[in-house]
Amino acid sequence: MLHVVEEPIIVRAPAKINLHLAVGDLRDDGYHELTTVYQALSLYDEVAIRKADSLSISVQGEGSSDVPLGSTNLVWRAAELMAAHAGRANKGARVHIAIKKGIPVAGGLAGGSADAAATLVALNELWRVDASRADLVQMAAELGSDVPFSLSGGTAMGVGRGEQLLPVLSRNSYHWVLAFAKGGLSTPAVYKELDRLRESGAPKRLGSADDLMHALTVGDPEVLAPLLGNDLQIASVSLMPTLRRTLRAGSDAGALAAIVSGSGPTCAFLCASEEDAVNVSVEVSATGVCRTVRTARGPVHGARVVQGDPPP
Ligand code: ATP
Repeated sequence: MLHVVEEPIIVRAPAKINLHLAVGDLRDDGYHELTTVYQALSLYDEVAIRKADSLSISVQGEGSSDVPLGSTNLVWRAAELMAAHAGRANKGARVHIAIKKGIPVAGGLAGGSADAAATLVALNELWRVDASRADLVQMAAELGSDVPFSLSGGTAMGVGRGEQLLPVLSRNSYHWVLAFAKGGLSTPAVYKELDRLRESGAPKRLGSADDLMHALTVGDPEVLAPLLGNDLQIASVSLMPTLRRTLRAGSDAGALAAIVSGSGPTCAFLCASEEDAVNVSVEVSATGVCRTVRTARGPVHGARVVQGDPPP
């Protein structure tokens, strides 16, 4: 039977947080050596792609005015990469890409990476490229350190720049509250600040992720909570000191742990149950320390076609 591709192809891709983010030394290529444990959360961007005369992008939703519409948007690069892979060099990427942002921009939640992963998955379907999983992962790694994880989702360890993924055994679902800040932080600026802080002192570095990995196999948020850690947190807080109040608000409201997500400024609060997460979100929201709060659960799937699926 003929496989009919319905346009637009709609793909939903999740935000990520880092349960563990150990930043090593600066490498010769300008990247830091990372050991991280990612978890994908139920906060999504949606990318809808249809055929068009030329490549174009539109964006709506959370922080859309801060998202570039040209070739610096990661989805543009993803479309060009997939076009080259599919041997469409002459035709190019003649598609319109409509992005619906649910993930705040420059929030440390890898929203741009989620959109790039979604674009690879959507174009693979739209153009019937039939790219293998390995090809998709390779293209994702070319686009950015977090893009392979945005494809896979779940819970995974990332090494290298974070783009080389290793499976993690994880039991159960966790309940989170995310506090979105007023404004974003540039990831390179946060790494630079960490380098500066490390030159002028010796901020404590995270140890190995072994205990955290073991806690994930147990599946108890109370066991996991004290093991969460992020070497970038000190740098994000240094650049945005109000984050200290946000983190405290989460702990005061009864969260089991409060951490900055990736390079920030989004803060993530681990809660004991769904009910606790709702209570923490209400309390944190009432303090006025952040722009918006959302509850989310993790782990969830990576970038996936969603036509016909009910909303999460
Ligand atoms: P990183 O993945 O670098 O840690 P982040 O998760 O903090 O970043 P993103 O939302 O991915 O933040 O955006 C970082 C920057 O990338 C934005 O300031 C924006 O200029 C640019 N950008 C490019 N493409 C996108 C996109 N599709 N969505 C959001 N931002 C994008």
